[in-house]
Amino acid sequence: MEVLYKSTRSGQNTVTASQAILKGLAEDGGLFVPTAIPKLSVSVEELSKMSYQETAYAVMKEFLTDFTKEELMDCIEKAYDSKFDTEEIAPLVNADGTYFLELFHGKTIAFKDMALSILPHLLTTSARKNNVKNEIVILTATSGDTGKAAMAGFADVAGTRIVVFYPKGGVSPIQEKQMLTQKGENTHVIGIKGNFDQAQSGVKEIFGNKELEEEMARAGFQFSSANSINIGRLVPQVVYYVYSYAKLVENEQIQNGEKINVVVPTGNFGNILAAFYAKNMGIPIAKLICASNDNKVLFDFFQTGVYDRNREFILTTSPSMDILISSNLERLIYKLAGEDAEKNAQYMKDLSGEGKYEITSDMKAQLEDFYGNFATEAETAETIHKLYDQTGYIIDTHTAVAAAVYNKYKEETKDETKTIIASTASPFKFTRSVMNAIDQEKYSDMSDFELVDELSTIGKVDVPDAIEEIRDAQIRHNTVCEVGDMEKEVKKFLGIEQS
Ligand SMILES: *Cc1c(COP(=O)(O)O)cnc(C)c1O
Repeated sequence: MEVLYKSTRSGQNTVTASQAILKGLAEDGGLFVPTAIPKLSVSVEELSKMSYQETAYAVMKEFLTDFTKEELMDCIEKAYDSKFDTEEIAPLVNADGTYFLELFHGKTIAFKDMALSILPHLLTTSARKNNVKNEIVILTATSGDTGKAAMAGFADVAGTRIVVFYPKGGVSPIQEKQMLTQKGENTHVIGIKGNFDQAQSGVKEIFGNKELEEEMARAGFQFSSANSINIGRLVPQVVYYVYSYAKLVENEQIQNGEKINVVVPTGNFGNILAAFYAKNMGIPIAKLICASNDNKVLFDFFQTGVYDRNREFILTTSPSMDILISSNLERLIYKLAGEDAEKNAQYMKDLSGEGKYEITSDMKAQLEDFYGNFATEAETAETIHKLYDQTGYIIDTHTAVAAAVYNKYKEETKDETKTIIASTASPFKFTRSVMNAIDQEKYSDMSDFELVDELSTIGKVDVPDAIEEIRDAQIRHNTVCEVGDMEKEVKKFLGIEQS
Protein backbone atom coordinates (compact mmCIF):
# COMPACT_ATOMS: atom_id res chain seq x y z
CA MET A 1 0.00 0.00 0.00
CA GLU A 2 1.34 3.42 -0.91
CA VAL A 3 2.21 5.64 2.05
CA LEU A 4 2.10 9.39 1.40
CA TYR A 5 3.16 12.23 3.65
CA LYS A 6 1.34 15.36 4.75
CA SER A 7 2.24 18.36 6.86
CA THR A 8 1.26 18.54 10.53
CA ARG A 9 0.12 22.13 9.94
CA SER A 10 -2.05 21.91 6.79
CA GLY A 11 -3.11 18.34 6.17
CA GLN A 12 -4.28 18.99 2.57
CA ASN A 13 -1.49 18.27 0.10
CA THR A 14 0.38 15.02 0.14
CA VAL A 15 3.87 14.27 -1.12
CA THR A 16 5.74 11.02 -1.73
CA ALA A 17 8.32 9.73 0.73
CA SER A 18 11.20 10.80 -1.49
CA GLN A 19 9.75 14.31 -1.79
CA ALA A 20 9.31 14.52 1.98
CA ILE A 21 12.93 13.45 2.47
CA LEU A 22 14.14 16.07 -0.01
CA LYS A 23 12.13 18.88 1.55
CA GLY A 24 12.86 17.98 5.17
CA LEU A 25 10.37 20.51 6.51
CA ALA A 26 7.00 21.25 4.89
CA GLU A 27 6.46 24.67 3.24
CA ASP A 28 4.14 25.76 6.05
CA GLY A 29 6.74 25.00 8.71
CA GLY A 30 5.05 21.75 9.70
CA LEU A 31 6.64 18.30 9.85
CA PHE A 32 5.83 15.53 7.41
CA VAL A 33 3.87 12.59 8.81
CA PRO A 34 2.68 9.44 7.05
CA THR A 35 -1.04 9.51 6.20
CA ALA A 36 -1.17 6.31 8.27
CA ILE A 37 1.54 4.43 10.15
CA PRO A 38 1.94 1.18 8.20
CA LYS A 39 1.83 -2.26 9.83
CA LEU A 40 4.70 -4.72 9.52
CA SER A 41 4.03 -7.28 6.80
CA VAL A 42 6.35 -9.93 8.27
CA SER A 43 5.89 -11.79 11.56
CA VAL A 44 8.16 -11.48 14.60
CA GLU A 45 8.99 -15.13 13.98
CA GLU A 46 10.39 -14.20 10.57
CA LEU A 47 12.03 -11.04 11.89
CA SER A 48 13.83 -12.99 14.59
CA LYS A 49 15.90 -14.73 11.92
CA MET A 50 16.81 -11.55 10.07
CA SER A 51 20.03 -9.56 10.06
CA TYR A 52 19.95 -5.86 10.87
CA GLN A 53 20.04 -5.03 7.16
CA GLU A 54 17.15 -7.39 6.37
CA THR A 55 15.14 -5.93 9.23
CA ALA A 56 15.90 -2.44 7.96
CA TYR A 57 14.45 -3.40 4.60
CA ALA A 58 11.35 -5.01 6.15
CA VAL A 59 10.62 -1.86 8.16
CA MET A 60 11.67 0.89 5.77
CA LYS A 61 9.90 -0.49 2.71
CA GLU A 62 6.60 0.02 4.53
CA PHE A 63 7.28 3.75 4.93
CA LEU A 64 9.27 4.61 1.80
CA THR A 65 6.89 3.12 -0.71
CA ASP A 66 8.08 5.07 -3.74
CA PHE A 67 11.59 3.61 -3.46
CA THR A 68 12.21 0.48 -5.53
CA LYS A 69 13.55 -2.60 -3.79
CA GLU A 70 16.92 -2.07 -5.50
CA GLU A 71 17.11 1.56 -4.43
CA LEU A 72 16.30 0.86 -0.82
CA MET A 73 18.57 -2.18 -0.55
CA ASP A 74 21.39 -0.16 -2.09
CA CYS A 75 20.94 2.59 0.54
CA ILE A 76 20.84 0.02 3.35
CA GLU A 77 23.95 -1.80 2.17
CA LYS A 78 25.92 1.42 1.86
CA ALA A 79 24.87 2.56 5.33
CA TYR A 80 25.08 -0.50 7.57
CA ASP A 81 28.45 -1.94 6.63
CA SER A 82 31.89 -2.10 8.20
CA LYS A 83 31.54 1.52 9.36
CA PHE A 84 29.91 -0.17 12.33
CA ASP A 85 32.31 -1.99 14.62
CA THR A 86 29.95 -4.93 15.17
CA GLU A 87 28.03 -7.06 12.68
CA GLU A 88 24.98 -6.89 14.90
CA ILE A 89 24.96 -3.11 14.26
CA ALA A 90 22.83 -2.54 17.38
CA PRO A 91 23.70 -5.16 20.05
CA LEU A 92 21.74 -5.75 23.24
CA VAL A 93 23.69 -5.96 26.49
CA ASN A 94 22.09 -7.37 29.61
CA ALA A 95 23.21 -5.57 32.76
CA ASP A 96 21.45 -5.53 36.10
CA GLY A 97 18.43 -7.32 34.62
CA THR A 98 17.80 -4.69 31.94
CA TYR A 99 18.64 -4.75 28.25
CA PHE A 100 20.80 -1.91 27.04
CA LEU A 101 20.33 -1.42 23.30
CA GLU A 102 23.72 -0.09 22.22
CA LEU A 103 23.11 2.38 19.43
CA PHE A 104 26.65 3.73 19.41
CA HIS A 105 28.65 1.35 17.25
CA GLY A 106 28.76 3.64 14.20
CA LYS A 107 31.29 6.17 13.02
CA THR A 108 30.75 8.85 15.65
CA ILE A 109 29.86 6.53 18.53
CA ALA A 110 26.41 8.00 19.20
CA PHE A 111 22.95 6.90 18.16
CA LYS A 112 22.63 9.61 15.52
CA ASP A 113 24.79 7.36 13.31
CA MET A 114 21.93 4.88 13.10
CA ALA A 115 19.97 7.25 10.89
CA LEU A 116 22.66 9.57 9.56
CA SER A 117 24.65 6.83 7.93
CA ILE A 118 21.69 6.11 5.67
CA LEU A 119 20.18 9.59 5.23
CA PRO A 120 22.73 10.83 2.64
CA HIS A 121 21.91 7.83 0.48
CA LEU A 122 18.16 8.25 0.92
CA LEU A 123 18.57 11.90 0.05
CA THR A 124 20.69 11.51 -3.08
CA THR A 125 18.39 8.69 -4.23
CA SER A 126 15.40 10.97 -3.61
CA ALA A 127 17.06 13.75 -5.62
CA ARG A 128 17.63 11.38 -8.53
CA LYS A 129 14.04 10.10 -8.39
CA ASN A 130 12.69 13.64 -8.53
CA ASN A 131 15.06 14.91 -11.24
CA VAL A 132 16.65 17.43 -8.93
CA LYS A 133 19.74 18.94 -10.55
CA ASN A 134 20.66 21.42 -7.81
CA GLU A 135 23.37 20.66 -5.34
CA ILE A 136 21.77 19.72 -2.01
CA VAL A 137 22.89 21.89 0.90
CA ILE A 138 22.33 20.29 4.28
CA LEU A 139 21.85 22.82 7.03
CA THR A 140 21.89 21.47 10.55
CA ALA A 141 21.79 22.72 14.12
CA THR A 142 23.38 20.37 16.61
CA SER A 143 23.52 19.98 20.35
CA GLY A 144 26.70 17.98 19.82
CA ASP A 145 26.09 14.61 18.22
CA THR A 146 23.96 15.26 15.15
CA GLY A 147 26.49 17.64 13.64
CA LYS A 148 29.38 15.22 13.66
CA ALA A 149 27.25 12.27 12.63
CA ALA A 150 25.72 14.28 9.78
CA MET A 151 29.11 15.48 8.56
CA ALA A 152 30.53 11.97 8.78
CA GLY A 153 27.57 10.74 6.72
CA PHE A 154 27.71 13.46 4.08
CA ALA A 155 31.48 14.04 3.83
CA ASP A 156 32.48 13.81 0.17
CA VAL A 157 29.04 12.50 -0.93
CA ALA A 158 28.78 13.86 -4.48
CA GLY A 159 26.11 16.49 -5.06
CA THR A 160 25.88 17.53 -1.41
CA ARG A 161 27.33 20.14 0.94
CA ILE A 162 26.80 20.40 4.64
CA VAL A 163 26.86 23.32 7.08
CA VAL A 164 26.61 22.60 10.81
CA PHE A 165 25.91 25.12 13.58
CA TYR A 166 26.64 24.23 17.21
CA PRO A 167 26.51 26.21 20.47
CA LYS A 168 30.10 27.26 21.23
CA GLY A 169 30.77 26.15 24.83
CA GLY A 170 27.62 23.98 24.90
CA VAL A 171 29.14 20.68 23.76
CA SER A 172 31.71 18.33 25.31
CA PRO A 173 35.42 18.83 24.44
CA ILE A 174 35.48 15.51 22.62
CA GLN A 175 32.31 16.35 20.71
CA GLU A 176 33.83 19.67 19.70
CA LYS A 177 37.12 18.17 18.61
CA GLN A 178 35.26 15.53 16.62
CA MET A 179 33.47 18.26 14.70
CA LEU A 180 36.37 20.66 14.24
CA THR A 181 38.59 17.94 12.77
CA GLN A 182 35.97 16.79 10.25
CA LYS A 183 37.39 16.06 6.81
CA GLY A 184 35.64 16.53 3.48
CA GLU A 185 35.76 19.61 1.25
CA ASN A 186 31.97 19.82 1.31
CA THR A 187 31.76 20.13 5.11
CA HIS A 188 31.63 23.34 7.16
CA VAL A 189 31.10 23.73 10.89
CA ILE A 190 30.42 26.97 12.78
CA GLY A 191 30.17 27.68 16.50
CA ILE A 192 27.51 30.24 17.44
CA LYS A 193 27.57 32.51 20.47
CA GLY A 194 24.31 31.12 21.78
CA ASN A 195 22.61 27.90 22.87
CA PHE A 196 21.18 24.98 20.90
CA ASP A 197 17.66 26.38 20.73
CA GLN A 198 19.04 29.55 19.17
CA ALA A 199 21.01 27.50 16.67
CA GLN A 200 17.88 25.52 15.81
CA SER A 201 15.70 28.63 15.49
CA GLY A 202 18.36 30.27 13.31
CA VAL A 203 18.41 27.27 10.99
CA LYS A 204 14.61 27.23 10.80
CA GLU A 205 14.65 30.93 9.90
CA ILE A 206 17.12 30.35 7.08
CA PHE A 207 14.95 27.51 5.79
CA GLY A 208 11.88 29.75 5.82
CA ASN A 209 13.56 32.62 3.93
CA LYS A 210 11.96 32.66 0.45
CA GLU A 211 14.27 35.32 -0.91
CA LEU A 212 17.30 33.30 0.04
CA GLU A 213 15.72 30.21 -1.50
CA GLU A 214 15.46 31.98 -4.85
CA GLU A 215 18.98 33.29 -4.59
CA MET A 216 20.20 29.79 -3.86
CA ALA A 217 18.29 28.31 -6.79
CA ARG A 218 19.88 30.85 -9.14
CA ALA A 219 23.26 29.68 -7.92
CA GLY A 220 22.30 25.97 -8.33
CA PHE A 221 21.67 25.08 -4.68
CA GLN A 222 18.74 23.94 -2.60
CA PHE A 223 18.47 23.36 1.12
CA SER A 224 17.54 20.17 2.86
CA SER A 225 17.65 19.16 6.48
CA ALA A 226 19.48 16.37 8.24
CA ASN A 227 17.86 17.29 11.55
CA SER A 228 15.69 14.75 13.28
CA ILE A 229 12.59 16.37 11.82
CA ASN A 230 13.44 14.77 8.46
CA ILE A 231 11.31 11.68 7.88
CA GLY A 232 14.49 10.11 6.47
CA ARG A 233 15.90 10.27 10.01
CA LEU A 234 12.84 9.01 11.78
CA VAL A 235 12.13 5.94 9.66
CA PRO A 236 15.60 4.32 10.02
CA GLN A 237 15.25 4.76 13.80
CA VAL A 238 12.14 2.59 13.89
CA VAL A 239 14.28 -0.30 12.68
CA TYR A 240 16.27 -0.95 15.84
CA TYR A 241 13.21 -1.19 18.05
CA VAL A 242 11.79 -3.86 15.75
CA TYR A 243 15.18 -5.55 15.51
CA SER A 244 15.82 -5.61 19.26
CA TYR A 245 12.36 -6.98 20.05
CA ALA A 246 12.89 -9.78 17.54
CA LYS A 247 16.35 -10.50 19.01
CA LEU A 248 14.90 -10.83 22.51
CA VAL A 249 12.46 -13.38 21.12
CA GLU A 250 15.17 -15.23 19.20
CA ASN A 251 17.34 -15.46 22.30
CA GLU A 252 14.36 -16.67 24.35
CA GLN A 253 14.60 -13.74 26.70
CA ILE A 254 10.93 -13.00 26.05
CA GLN A 255 8.01 -14.94 24.57
CA ASN A 256 6.80 -13.93 21.13
CA GLY A 257 3.99 -11.46 21.82
CA GLU A 258 5.19 -10.58 25.34
CA LYS A 259 5.10 -6.85 25.97
CA ILE A 260 8.24 -4.90 26.78
CA ASN A 261 8.90 -1.38 28.04
CA VAL A 262 11.25 0.98 26.26
CA VAL A 263 13.18 3.77 28.00
CA VAL A 264 14.60 6.57 25.87
CA PRO A 265 16.85 9.45 26.97
CA THR A 266 15.07 12.25 25.19
CA GLY A 267 15.90 15.63 23.72
CA ASN A 268 14.23 16.43 20.43
CA PHE A 269 11.73 13.55 20.87
CA GLY A 270 12.91 11.80 17.68
CA ASN A 271 14.20 8.57 19.14
CA ILE A 272 11.20 7.94 21.39
CA LEU A 273 8.81 8.85 18.57
CA ALA A 274 10.48 6.10 16.52
CA ALA A 275 9.70 3.67 19.35
CA PHE A 276 6.08 4.90 19.27
CA TYR A 277 6.00 4.24 15.51
CA ALA A 278 7.42 0.74 16.10
CA LYS A 279 4.60 0.13 18.57
CA ASN A 280 2.06 1.36 16.03
CA MET A 281 3.58 -0.96 13.42
CA GLY A 282 2.71 -3.88 15.69
CA ILE A 283 5.67 -4.40 18.06
CA PRO A 284 4.29 -5.23 21.54
CA ILE A 285 5.56 -2.26 23.53
CA ALA A 286 3.77 -1.45 26.78
CA LYS A 287 5.22 1.76 28.21
CA LEU A 288 7.28 4.33 26.40
CA ILE A 289 9.37 5.85 29.17
CA CYS A 290 10.56 9.34 28.31
CA ALA A 291 13.65 10.35 30.30
CA SER A 292 14.75 13.98 30.62
CA ASN A 293 17.66 15.67 32.35
CA ASP A 294 17.29 18.92 34.33
CA ASN A 295 15.74 20.52 31.24
CA LYS A 296 12.55 18.71 32.14
CA VAL A 297 10.02 20.37 29.82
CA LEU A 298 8.73 16.98 28.70
CA PHE A 299 8.31 15.65 32.23
CA ASP A 300 6.23 18.71 33.11
CA PHE A 301 4.26 18.24 29.91
CA PHE A 302 3.38 14.63 30.71
CA GLN A 303 2.41 15.69 34.25
CA THR A 304 0.28 18.71 33.41
CA GLY A 305 -0.54 18.77 29.70
CA VAL A 306 1.18 22.15 29.50
CA TYR A 307 4.23 22.48 27.30
CA ASP A 308 6.12 25.50 28.57
CA ARG A 309 9.55 26.44 27.31
CA ASN A 310 9.70 29.61 29.40
CA ARG A 311 12.38 28.58 31.83
CA GLU A 312 16.08 28.72 32.36
CA PHE A 313 18.15 26.70 29.90
CA ILE A 314 20.40 24.43 31.95
CA LEU A 315 23.74 23.10 30.71
CA THR A 316 24.11 19.51 31.93
CA THR A 317 26.52 16.60 31.53
CA SER A 318 24.07 15.14 28.97
CA PRO A 319 24.34 18.02 26.48
CA SER A 320 22.58 16.23 23.62
CA MET A 321 19.42 16.43 25.73
CA ASP A 322 19.79 20.10 26.67
CA ILE A 323 16.78 21.15 24.66
CA LEU A 324 13.69 23.19 25.52
CA ILE A 325 11.83 22.79 22.24
CA SER A 326 11.42 19.13 21.34
CA SER A 327 10.65 19.50 17.63
CA ASN A 328 9.45 15.97 17.02
CA LEU A 329 6.81 16.21 19.73
CA GLU A 330 4.77 18.08 17.11
CA ARG A 331 4.16 14.79 15.31
CA LEU A 332 2.66 13.30 18.48
CA ILE A 333 0.62 16.43 19.23
CA TYR A 334 -0.83 16.29 15.72
CA LYS A 335 -1.83 12.67 16.24
CA LEU A 336 -3.34 13.37 19.67
CA ALA A 337 -5.30 16.24 18.13
CA GLY A 338 -7.01 13.71 15.86
CA GLU A 339 -4.80 14.77 12.92
CA ASP A 340 -6.37 18.19 13.08
CA ALA A 341 -3.71 20.30 11.35
CA GLU A 342 -5.38 23.59 12.21
CA LYS A 343 -5.50 22.77 15.89
CA ASN A 344 -1.87 21.64 15.86
CA ALA A 345 -0.81 24.77 13.96
CA GLN A 346 -2.44 26.89 16.67
CA TYR A 347 -0.47 25.08 19.40
CA MET A 348 2.76 25.61 17.49
CA LYS A 349 1.89 29.27 16.98
CA ASP A 350 1.36 29.61 20.72
CA LEU A 351 4.67 27.88 21.30
CA SER A 352 6.60 30.29 19.10
CA GLY A 353 4.62 33.28 20.40
CA GLU A 354 4.10 32.81 24.13
CA GLY A 355 6.48 29.88 24.45
CA LYS A 356 3.75 27.53 25.65
CA TYR A 357 0.52 25.70 24.93
CA GLU A 358 -1.87 23.44 26.82
CA ILE A 359 -3.45 20.35 25.26
CA THR A 360 -7.06 19.38 26.00
CA SER A 361 -7.91 16.74 28.60
CA ASP A 362 -9.06 14.40 25.80
CA MET A 363 -5.63 14.66 24.25
CA LYS A 364 -3.92 14.19 27.58
CA ALA A 365 -5.93 11.02 28.18
CA GLN A 366 -4.34 9.52 25.06
CA LEU A 367 -0.87 9.89 26.58
CA GLU A 368 -1.38 6.75 28.68
CA ASP A 369 1.32 4.84 26.79
CA PHE A 370 3.90 7.37 27.89
CA TYR A 371 5.56 7.83 31.24
CA GLY A 372 7.81 10.84 31.79
CA ASN A 373 10.33 11.59 34.49
CA PHE A 374 13.70 13.26 34.87
CA ALA A 375 17.05 12.75 36.55
CA THR A 376 19.12 15.42 38.23
CA GLU A 377 22.86 15.71 37.68
CA ALA A 378 23.54 13.96 40.99
CA GLU A 379 21.15 11.11 40.20
CA THR A 380 22.71 10.67 36.78
CA ALA A 381 26.23 10.44 38.18
CA GLU A 382 25.12 8.09 40.93
CA THR A 383 23.52 5.77 38.38
CA ILE A 384 26.77 5.49 36.40
CA HIS A 385 28.69 4.85 39.60
CA LYS A 386 26.32 2.22 40.98
CA LEU A 387 25.93 0.28 37.74
CA TYR A 388 29.70 0.19 37.35
CA ASP A 389 30.17 -0.98 40.93
CA GLN A 390 27.55 -3.69 40.61
CA THR A 391 28.23 -4.99 37.11
CA GLY A 392 31.42 -3.44 35.68
CA TYR A 393 29.35 -2.08 32.79
CA ILE A 394 29.99 1.61 32.05
CA ILE A 395 27.27 3.75 30.50
CA ASP A 396 27.43 7.31 29.22
CA THR A 397 25.65 10.26 30.83
CA HIS A 398 22.64 10.25 28.47
CA THR A 399 22.04 6.55 28.93
CA ALA A 400 22.45 7.12 32.67
CA VAL A 401 19.61 9.66 32.65
CA ALA A 402 17.45 6.93 31.13
CA ALA A 403 18.63 4.30 33.63
CA ALA A 404 17.99 6.67 36.56
CA VAL A 405 14.49 7.45 35.32
CA TYR A 406 13.84 3.75 34.81
CA ASN A 407 14.80 3.10 38.44
CA LYS A 408 12.30 5.76 39.54
CA TYR A 409 9.65 4.21 37.33
CA LYS A 410 10.19 0.76 38.80
CA GLU A 411 10.12 2.07 42.32
CA GLU A 412 6.89 3.98 41.67
CA THR A 413 5.01 1.32 39.75
CA LYS A 414 6.59 -2.02 40.78
CA ASP A 415 6.26 -2.89 37.08
CA GLU A 416 8.56 -5.83 36.33
CA THR A 417 7.97 -5.92 32.56
CA LYS A 418 11.19 -6.68 30.67
CA THR A 419 12.73 -3.45 29.56
CA ILE A 420 15.02 -2.09 26.87
CA ILE A 421 17.00 1.07 27.59
CA ALA A 422 18.15 2.94 24.50
CA SER A 423 21.88 3.43 25.06
CA THR A 424 22.54 6.47 22.96
CA ALA A 425 26.24 7.21 23.28
CA SER A 426 29.48 5.47 24.03
CA PRO A 427 30.92 6.46 27.43
CA PHE A 428 34.07 7.41 25.50
CA LYS A 429 32.23 10.37 24.06
CA PHE A 430 31.61 11.88 27.49
CA THR A 431 34.68 10.55 29.20
CA ARG A 432 35.25 13.25 31.79
CA SER A 433 31.69 13.28 33.12
CA VAL A 434 31.59 9.50 33.15
CA MET A 435 34.92 9.14 34.97
CA ASN A 436 34.01 11.90 37.41
CA ALA A 437 30.89 9.94 38.24
CA ILE A 438 32.95 6.85 38.93
CA ASP A 439 35.64 8.57 41.02
CA GLN A 440 35.77 12.35 41.13
CA GLU A 441 38.90 12.61 43.25
CA LYS A 442 41.02 10.06 41.51
CA TYR A 443 40.43 11.36 37.99
CA SER A 444 40.17 15.12 38.38
CA ASP A 445 43.79 15.83 37.38
CA MET A 446 43.92 13.67 34.28
CA SER A 447 43.71 15.05 30.72
CA ASP A 448 40.82 14.01 28.46
CA PHE A 449 42.90 11.45 26.64
CA GLU A 450 44.42 10.03 29.81
CA LEU A 451 40.85 9.53 30.94
CA VAL A 452 40.05 7.75 27.69
CA ASP A 453 42.81 5.22 28.35
CA GLU A 454 41.78 4.81 31.97
CA LEU A 455 38.16 4.23 30.94
CA SER A 456 39.33 1.57 28.51
CA THR A 457 41.25 -0.15 31.29
CA ILE A 458 38.61 -0.13 34.01
CA GLY A 459 35.69 -0.82 31.66
CA LYS A 460 37.59 -3.56 29.78
CA VAL A 461 36.57 -2.11 26.40
CA ASP A 462 38.85 -1.07 23.56
CA VAL A 463 39.12 2.63 22.76
CA PRO A 464 36.77 3.10 19.78
CA ASP A 465 38.32 4.12 16.43
CA ALA A 466 36.29 7.31 16.50
CA ILE A 467 38.31 8.45 19.52
CA GLU A 468 41.69 7.15 18.33
CA GLU A 469 41.20 9.14 15.13
CA ILE A 470 40.91 12.50 16.83
CA ARG A 471 43.78 12.09 19.29
CA ASP A 472 46.23 13.85 16.99
CA ALA A 473 43.91 15.09 14.25
CA GLN A 474 44.34 18.52 12.75
CA ILE A 475 41.73 21.21 13.56
CA ARG A 476 40.22 22.11 10.18
CA HIS A 477 37.38 24.45 11.18
CA ASN A 478 37.52 27.49 13.42
CA THR A 479 34.61 29.78 12.53
CA VAL A 480 32.59 31.33 15.35
CA CYS A 481 29.71 33.75 14.70
CA GLU A 482 26.95 35.74 16.36
CA VAL A 483 23.44 34.21 16.28
CA GLY A 484 22.38 37.01 13.92
CA ASP A 485 25.09 36.21 11.36
CA MET A 486 24.22 32.59 10.60
CA GLU A 487 22.75 33.32 7.17
CA LYS A 488 25.76 35.41 6.21
CA GLU A 489 28.05 32.51 7.07
CA VAL A 490 26.06 30.08 4.94
CA LYS A 491 26.25 32.41 1.96
CA LYS A 492 29.96 32.86 2.45
CA PHE A 493 30.56 29.12 2.41
CA LEU A 494 28.47 28.70 -0.75
CA GLY A 495 30.13 31.66 -2.42
CA ILE A 496 26.86 33.52 -2.94
CA GLU A 497 27.15 37.32 -3.26
CA GLN A 498 26.13 39.34 -0.24
CA SER A 499 23.24 41.60 -1.22
C1 LIG B 1 20.42 13.21 20.24
C2 LIG B 1 20.70 12.44 21.44
C3 LIG B 1 19.70 12.16 22.38
C4 LIG B 1 18.29 12.67 22.23
O1 LIG B 1 17.59 12.05 21.16
P1 LIG B 1 16.30 12.75 20.56
O2 LIG B 1 15.93 11.92 19.39
O3 LIG B 1 16.71 14.14 20.18
O4 LIG B 1 15.26 12.76 21.62
C5 LIG B 1 20.03 11.39 23.47
N1 LIG B 1 21.29 10.95 23.66
C6 LIG B 1 22.27 11.21 22.79
C7 LIG B 1 23.64 10.71 23.07
C8 LIG B 1 22.02 11.95 21.64
O5 LIG B 1 23.00 12.19 20.78
